[in-house]
Amino acid sequence: MNTHHLQSPVRGIPSPWNEPNQVAYYSSPAGAAKLYEALQHARQAPEIIPLMIHGQEIYDGEPLEIPLPHDHHTIFAKTHSASADHLAAAVSSCLKAQQAWAELNQSQRSAVFLKAAERMAGPERYRILAATMLAQNKTVDQAEWDAVCQTVDYLRYQAQFAEQIHSFSPERSTPGEWSHVEARALEGFVLALGPFNFTSISVNLAVAPALMGCAVIWKPSLEALPASWLCLKILMECGLPAGIINLLSGDPQLIGQYCLGHPELAGLHFTGSTQTFRRLWQSIGANMDQYRYYPRIVGETGGKGFVFAHPSAHPGELVCALVRGAFEYQGQKCSAASRAYVPASLWKVIKGPLLELTTSLKMGLPDEEGVFLAALINRRAFNKVKGYIDLAHQDTATYEVLCGGGCDDSQGYFVEPTIIQTHDPQSQLMYEEIFGPVLTVWVYADDELEQAARLCDGTSPFALTGAVIARDRGAIVQLSRLLRYCTGNLYVNVKPTGAVVGQQPFGGSRASGTNDKAGSALMLQRWVNYRTTKEKFLHNDPLCPFGQLGPE
Ligand code: NAD
Repeated sequence: MNTHHLQSPVRGIPSPWNEPNQVAYYSSPAGAAKLYEALQHARQAPEIIPLMIHGQEIYDGEPLEIPLPHDHHTIFAKTHSASADHLAAAVSSCLKAQQAWAELNQSQRSAVFLKAAERMAGPERYRILAATMLAQNKTVDQAEWDAVCQTVDYLRYQAQFAEQIHSFSPERSTPGEWSHVEARALEGFVLALGPFNFTSISVNLAVAPALMGCAVIWKPSLEALPASWLCLKILMECGLPAGIINLLSGDPQLIGQYCLGHPELAGLHFTGSTQTFRRLWQSIGANMDQYRYYPRIVGETGGKGFVFAHPSAHPGELVCALVRGAFEYQGQKCSAASRAYVPASLWKVIKGPLLELTTSLKMGLPDEEGVFLAALINRRAFNKVKGYIDLAHQDTATYEVLCGGGCDDSQGYFVEPTIIQTHDPQSQLMYEEIFGPVLTVWVYADDELEQAARLCDGTSPFALTGAVIARDRGAIVQLSRLLRYCTGNLYVNVKPTGAVVGQQPFGGSRASGTNDKAGSALMLQRWVNYRTTKEKFLHNDPLCPFGQLGPE
C-alpha cells in the first residue's frame, strides 16, 4: 500500500458522543419491523463463518457448530477450526501488513473506525443486534447496550483517546535543543482472545491495538463469533486493510500455544476468566527467552460483584440495584452483583419485595417481548451454575434458597433467577465467581457495619465492581474508604454493572485483571511503544574543536 499521499496532518477529528440506546424497538412499529426482519434473516439457515486471513475468506478446516443457547438442538452458525498452517499464515499476514498501517497518520487510521461506527449505528444496527440476541442469548435491551451502543462508543471515543496518546510530549526542551516523543505501534503481532458475553468487548480486543497501528490475530469466543464476524466485515468494508485483523476460530489451546510461542508476539489482549488468563500468562513466562519483545499483557478477567447496603439506603434503590445487577443477562456479566451485604433492619423491609420482584421476572426466548432473562450460554455454564445451586440445596446448614433454583436444559440452558441467603459470610457462594443468575445475601447486624465491610473486602479474591447503597453521606465516604481496594469500578446508589465508554473507564484489580481501563486512553497506551528524540540545534561544547573542523 502506498501511504505517502496520506501522510499530511489532519486537523481535529469529530468529537465523540455516546450512541443513544433505542430500547423502544417493540413500541415503535418501524423499529419492530426492522428487528423482526433481521431476526428472521439470521435464523434462515446456519451461516458459515470463514476464517479471515490477509483479507481472504477461508472455508477449510475442521467444521465447528454454534448452537442456539435457548434451543440447543438448532445450529445457528458454523465455522472452521484453524490449523497450524492457518496460524502460520495469519502471523505472516500480520507481519506483512503492519508496517504500512503503522505509518499512516493516526487520524487516517481513526477514520476507518469512525466510518465503521456510523455504519454500525445506522444501517447495520439490526443485523448486529440479531446476531448478538440469538447466538449470545441477549434480550433486545441487553444486546442494544452491548453490541450496538458500547461497540460504537469504543470506536468513537477511542479515536479521540488516540489523539491524546500522540499529544504526549516532554515537559520542555533546553534552549538550542529539541526533545520530542513519538508513539509508535508495537512491532510483531498482538493476540486478542475474547469472552462470549459482550460483542463490544470482543470487537474492541482487536480494534484497540489495530487503531494504534498494530496487527492482530483475533480469536473471539465461539458464541460471540457471529456478531464479531459481522463487525469485522464492516470494518474491512470501511477501509481496514487486509492483514491488520486476522480472524481465527477453533481449538483455543492450539491457537494459544502457537501464538504465545511465536518470537514475534508483541502482546496479549485478553478478556475472559481468571483461570484462563493465569495459564496464558504462565505460558508467556515460559516462552520468555524466545521473544523479540517483552509482550504487553492486558487482561480483564473474573469478578464477584457486590452490593453493600447501609442502614440508611433507600429500600427501592437497593431492590433495583440487586435485581438489575444480579439478573440482567442471566448474571453473565463480569460486573454482575453476585453477593450482597444487607443490614438486618433493612432486610426486614426489602426481603418480601425483592423476592416478589425476582419471581415475577419473565424468563424465555431472547427475542420474545417482555422477557427479562433468556438462557445461559452453553452446557458448561449451565452445569457450573446448577452445581452451585445444588450445593446450596444440599448444605442447608449454610444456605437457604429463598427463591428460584429451578434448572432446565431440555430445550435450552435455562436457570431461574435465584436468591440464596447464607449463614456464613465466608462460604463458597460468597467468594467464587458463579457467572449465572444467582445472588447470595449475607444479613449483617446493623451495629457491625465495619466488620461487614471488612468481610466484603477480604472474602473474595476478585476486585472488579461493587455498589454502595446509602443515603447518609458520611456512610458513603466511610464505605468507599473501607472498600477502597476491592473494586476497580465503584458505584454509589446504583447497580454495579453497565459502565459507559467515555464515562466510566472499566477494569478491576487483584484477581480481576491488569486494570488497564478499557474505554480510556490508559488502555490504548499499552499498544504503543514510545521513541524519544533529542536534537541539538547549536554545537558549542568547549571540549570539541568545531571551528577547526568546519563552519558551524
Ligand atoms: P474463558 O476464559 O473461558 O474464555 C475466554 C477466551 O479465551 C475464549 O476466546 C476462549 O476460547 C479462550 N481460551 C480459553 N482457554 C484458552 C487457552 N488455553 N488458550 C488460549 N485461549 C483460550 O471465558 P468466557 O467463559 O468466554 O468468559 C467469561 C469470563 O470472562 C468470566 O470469568 C467473566 O468474568 C470474564 N469477563 C471479564 C470482563 C472484564 O472486563 N473483567 C468482561 C467480560 C467477561
